[in-house]
Amino acid sequence: MPDLAGILLRQSVGSLESGRSRCATCRRTPLVGERLHEMDSGRVLCDLCRSQLPADERDPVRTERVHASERHLAVAPRAA
Ligand SMILES: [Zn+2]
Repeated sequence: MPDLAGILLRQSVGSLESGRSRCATCRRTPLVGERLHEMDSGRVLCDLCRSQLPADERDPVRTERVHASERHLAVAPRAA
């Protein structure tokens, strides 16, 4: 019999991770407003890790800002 709870857990974790990029170096998921840089090598780095590269390796192919809408924000009723 399949472990239904385990399957559901894996699916929900997968959906949280989908579409979210992580830094290839520190494995951190960047915060809203931070930028992710896709480098020549195809690696995706956060601002902090990119700033530690040698100056001539810092040019990203693509830079993306992390938007609030990409995150799963908690929805709570407003106080009256
Ligand atoms: Zn990083």
